Amino acid sequence: NKQILLDNRPQGEASASNFKLVTTETPPLNEGEVLVRHHYLSLDPYMRGRMNDAKSYAVPQPVGQVMQGGSVGEVVESRHPKYAVGDKVQGMGGWQEYSVVKADTPGALRKLDTTHVPISHYLGAVGMPGVTAFYGLVKIIEPKAGQTVTVSAASGAVGSAFGALAKARGCRAVGIAGGPDKCKYVVEELGFDACIDYKVHKDAASLSKALRDACPDGIDGHFENVGGMVLDAVLLRMNAFGRIALCGMIAGYDGQPIPLSYPQLILTNRLRIQGFIVSEHMEVWPEALTELGTLVGTGKLRPRESVAEGLEAAPEAFLGMLKGRNFGKQVVKLV
Ligand code: NDP
Repeated sequence: NKQILLDNRPQGEASASNFKLVTTETPPLNEGEVLVRHHYLSLDPYMRGRMNDAKSYAVPQPVGQVMQGGSVGEVVESRHPKYAVGDKVQGMGGWQEYSVVKADTPGALRKLDTTHVPISHYLGAVGMPGVTAFYGLVKIIEPKAGQTVTVSAASGAVGSAFGALAKARGCRAVGIAGGPDKCKYVVEELGFDACIDYKVHKDAASLSKALRDACPDGIDGHFENVGGMVLDAVLLRMNAFGRIALCGMIAGYDGQPIPLSYPQLILTNRLRIQGFIVSEHMEVWPEALTELGTLVGTGKLRPRESVAEGLEAAPEAFLGMLKGRNFGKQVVKLV
């Protein structure tokens, strides 16, 4: 069983030298356990935060242990009556080829129906990132039909789901993404009304002018994944009583400061800004996953994936994602 461990914690920017590849034997199964062969691993921005030892909402990833994370795969051996060889399952198997799972641990394993939804999408649109978009849109932004909502990192796992959910509620959806290819995809494949390439703008004032053209009625709700210049530009266009779901600030995950230039606009526009962590809202998961599964199953949401091949490719793919080199949900394919 090949595994990737966190070997040491990053000092500043994370690098490939923080990880180590090892090979171990999988232990024999005890009663109640199943052996899962992973087909895909999920690479997510939150893993960067957990590589640090700082106090946060999640406990740090232990050094010397397998990198933790979501996985989907197939049961290849079972000593649990409810799981049979061949069952497709989702779990938190981590960066390794196989995992031994105590199947009765709450939340440890979930059976998947792959008839209408490709298995890897359970790590993206029909998984944690999709529910994240749902929570921010439905529970924090609470848009009405006809209102304008915006999202940064629009072509990514969370952003793409946000667009489909917003369109389903009759909103005008405007994305912000890096580069012409991502923006083209956001409009043509994901069905956003417009998408702005933030990379062609040198500052927030310039980006906010582009936002004014794309959002002629102003912005009623914004879903923030990045922070910095993008958030500044959006603040300049928010309508009174607008809502901002603060989901991620990836521009600062290596420890960079990300100053907020116009905090006074929060006051003058009576904005509501709320941060949230999706795993603290398990009550919305069933409802969200049902809607997201239908959107993907019916082709209304066609999520794109960046697929890295083989476990050895995981660290570089992960580091690349933190720099925006992914295009859609970043996964690692193992078989
Ligand atoms: P994505 O698939 O969106 O990948 C990350 C994207 O972020 C990149 O492709 C890039 O897109 C963009 N990006 C990276 N660095 C920068 C930068 N310096 N400036 C601007 N954009 C940058 O990842 P996810 O969809 O998985 O996650 C999106 C966000 O949601 C992250 O911030 C993540 O931490 C957060 N999140 C929060 C959760 C919560 O519970 N609060 C749960 C899940 C995710 P581009 O090229 O367009 O810039």
